[in-house]
Amino acid sequence: MKIVTVIGARPQFIKASIGSKVIRKFHKEIIIHTGQHFDYNMSKIFFDELDMPIPNYNLGISGGGHAEMTAKMLIAIEKILMEEKPNAVLVYGDTNSTLSASLTAAKLHIPVFHIEAGNRIGELYNPEEINRIVTDHLSELKFAPTEIAFNNLVNENIGYNSYIVGNIMLDAFLHFSSKKSSFDNIVDINNNHISMPCNYYYMTCHREENTKNDKVLSEILFAMNELEYKTIFPVHPRNFDRAIRICNEYKLDNIILTKPVGYIESINITKNAKKIVTDSGGLQCEAFFAKVQCVTIYDKVCWPETMVDNRNQLAKADKNDILNKLSKKQIINDEYQPFGDGHSAENIVRYINSWEQK
Ligand code: UDP
Repeated sequence: MKIVTVIGARPQFIKASIGSKVIRKFHKEIIIHTGQHFDYNMSKIFFDELDMPIPNYNLGISGGGHAEMTAKMLIAIEKILMEEKPNAVLVYGDTNSTLSASLTAAKLHIPVFHIEAGNRIGELYNPEEINRIVTDHLSELKFAPTEIAFNNLVNENIGYNSYIVGNIMLDAFLHFSSKKSSFDNIVDINNNHISMPCNYYYMTCHREENTKNDKVLSEILFAMNELEYKTIFPVHPRNFDRAIRICNEYKLDNIILTKPVGYIESINITKNAKKIVTDSGGLQCEAFFAKVQCVTIYDKVCWPETMVDNRNQLAKADKNDILNKLSKKQIINDEYQPFGDGHSAENIVRYINSWEQK
């Protein structure tokens, strides 16, 4: 088949780096990069270090409101799909790129395959939740990472053509874990090379809900600044200026701000971290894979599978709540493996191939 894969944001580059390798063994793949993430540290670095095919199309669409971005993507993707006439469109996750591609394809009667189908937080105020629901309901094949995600699809009456395949982030984590980055030092935002501390916390924070004003982000940073070890915080472009300003204003010297790091560096930092504080869906899972305890700054559970035995706990954007959750101990049960065995991409392609033969 000719499959058009549409990606545009950091976690999608990571997932596609695994997915594309397996898809290309059986099918011709055309990649569209929408441009949603475009800085070197948020985009090109992943194509370089994860050995990903260069996208056939780069739409250069980023910024603006949700409507503007989505509308531009709809127009640009439709043009390409009409020319390429693929047998299917493949999308990952829950971004505006995912939504735009699935909507465009469905209207052109091109089957959509959705990887990471069925995840729900149960609230429509979250922009990604809207993208997930619409994409799943438009998809021909729905690849659920876990049993809970699969059950969500069943509960929405779209359990047909849905399969539990495992979490493709685990495939990526296992595959790239063997590749060492230069891990002895880290470059801060002032380009200083700092020796990697022996003990540290790892933090990422970029959700709209946690970056929309100074108060929310300050609370999180104040908590991290109180800890016994430094925090490494690669700052997402969405809150770059705000984070630097707050750290300077309040002299939060216990926090090492860096530009976003590459994926291999990120998983190395994860594996050696004391604990992780994040609002990233992907990093919550990676913390779980690495058996490093996580505190998630959010009011809803994204990955309920991780919320066992204090391995991942929710905290409000509130200094005391964060410190309290960080003080708890986790318990690891090695038999509990809700994300599959790291062969999710192979499972997905097997289901695609049998769908093709029907
Ligand atoms: N990540 C990265 N560099 C960073 C911070 C995170 O490569 O500076 C990785 C992280 O290891 C995880 C992914 O980016 O694999 C998560 O992406 P993001 O937080 O942007 O999106 P989400 O998972 O919330 O959708």
